[in-house]
Amino acid sequence: MRAAPALLIASIFVCLSSIAAQPKTPLLAIAPLGQVPRTDITEIRRAIETTYGWSTVELAPQPLPKSAWYQPRRRHRAEKILQWLRGRKPLAADKIMAITAKDISTTKGRYPDWGICGLAEMPGSTSVISTYRIKKKLRAPNRKRRHEKYLQRLRDLAVHEFGHQLGLEHCPHRGCVMEDAKGTVGTFDHSTNELCADCRHQLDR
Ligand SMILES: [Zn+2]
Ligand SMILES: [Zn+2]
Repeated sequence: MRAAPALLIASIFVCLSSIAAQPKTPLLAIAPLGQVPRTDITEIRRAIETTYGWSTVELAPQPLPKSAWYQPRRRHRAEKILQWLRGRKPLAADKIMAITAKDISTTKGRYPDWGICGLAEMPGSTSVISTYRIKKKLRAPNRKRRHEKYLQRLRDLAVHEFGHQLGLEHCPHRGCVMEDAKGTVGTFDHSTNELCADCRHQLDR
């Protein structure tokens, strides 16, 4: 009987250490900048959770940062948004992704200000995606089908940029979600919305 307290302490210790050893599901914080429809946030969260097995949390909406405003083209610079985002990642989150309906741009090759759909640190803690360009050229017979196509592009965009955050580069396999968009929204429309076996293998390593 005298051994019981020691046994109890030992079993509590074993129990606590087994809790500590359980791998924690990593957490992505989604930061809406300006007005973003609820359906868009839900779609992104579901896409990240099912593709990567991460948990997601939605932050309160905030206005786009003034520091990112680019007056000559009247839109926001994506790399400046990433800079600003770094200070806004909650401590409990492993990475942060901003989403906005406004147009964003960055410098691309000889173009000092090129409109883009998304930008991510690779690998890194921040990314930003914009729905402004994926609303264009949604060729479908009716409104419902156009919206479905839009949501498919949105899933693709979020999964693509988050892949960069995890260190994935552009992939040569046609249809892989990590394929280079090459500046056209058409790439989204033949995407399988999924990582190819090679990209999946890289992530698992
Ligand atoms: Zn990319
Ligand atoms: Zn791939």
